Amino acid sequence: MRIVVLAGGIGGARFLRGLKQAVPDAEITVVGNTGDDIHLFGLKVCPDLDTVMYTLGGGIHEEQGWGREGESFAVKDELAAYGVGPEWFGLGDKDFATHIVRTQMLGAGYPLSAVTEALCARWQPGVRLLPMSDDRVETHVAIEVDGEQRAVHFQEYWVKLRASVDAKAVVAVGAEAAKPAPGVLEAIAEADVILFPPSNPVVSVGTILSVPGIREAVAAAPAPVVGLSPIVGDAPVRGMADKVLAAVGVESTAAAVARHYGSALVDGWLVDTVDAGSVAEVEAAGIACRAVPLMMTDADATAAMARAALALAEEVRR
Ligand code: GDP
Ligand code: CA
Repeated sequence: MRIVVLAGGIGGARFLRGLKQAVPDAEITVVGNTGDDIHLFGLKVCPDLDTVMYTLGGGIHEEQGWGREGESFAVKDELAAYGVGPEWFGLGDKDFATHIVRTQMLGAGYPLSAVTEALCARWQPGVRLLPMSDDRVETHVAIEVDGEQRAVHFQEYWVKLRASVDAKAVVAVGAEAAKPAPGVLEAIAEADVILFPPSNPVVSVGTILSVPGIREAVAAAPAPVVGLSPIVGDAPVRGMADKVLAAVGVESTAAAVARHYGSALVDGWLVDTVDAGSVAEVEAAGIACRAVPLMMTDADATAAMARAALALAEEVRR
């Protein structure tokens, strides 16, 4: 079975671990979000690709959900001693090596997709990890500070400001001119199943879909498309997805996110059992819906979620 997953960082990566456990023989292609990418200290950092790579490769800091386990921060401390920031983005010494290798290869002319493949040769994530695009796309967030509008990089909004101010708009800068990375459209067209993990619908899955051709390919794919809600009990399970959902005029409910994707894109939708009351609303929007436990508390619970998504995909197969 060929499965394509459009993934952000933590939500996507943890779901993928459960999916691999549920169907160890499946051929899984991950289309990763690169809208969160940022240049820091002259280095290209790809937080979502790395979270997927480290999580599936066994190098992730478990509790944190990003970065490497057992990190030290000597480089960061030395940079700070020179007064060189930003100090708000946590880069550990082990993590630095990844960004150095990536930046060196990009500088030598390799596209990001080839660099990602090279990094994965070490981590062996057990999936084919493709960036959504080799072209630069950067998510910016429009905010208002003291009555003045300004745009900040997504990482500044998320990590530095902790989404403490309202997002007025979210823009994937460069997306309109970006091309899907090699293999992305082919994987979508040839998939047996396409899954949207419980990743952020705006700044993870939404950004991937904003690359011209990807949304169209998913909508036109012969495979059933099933999504899992990142919103449980009218709030994000983790993080501040409600802030960016509000910016695009979407309520933070499992049903509203399903309607935001729409029946042209997704055929099936899973909500958590606490949101069972919204199944009828999702089905009224033309999307098959089931309520199952959606908390990724451990590998077994996550694998059960993956099996439920695949079962719903079989039900809705056109
Ligand atoms: P990020 O790039 O690291 O922010 O990660 P993603 O975009 O892949 O996933 C973030 C989303 O995962 C958030 O909106 C969370 O609500 C969601 N999430 C995290 N843990 C869980 C979980 O256990 N269950 C569900 N349903 N969603 C989760
Ligand atoms: Ca992310």
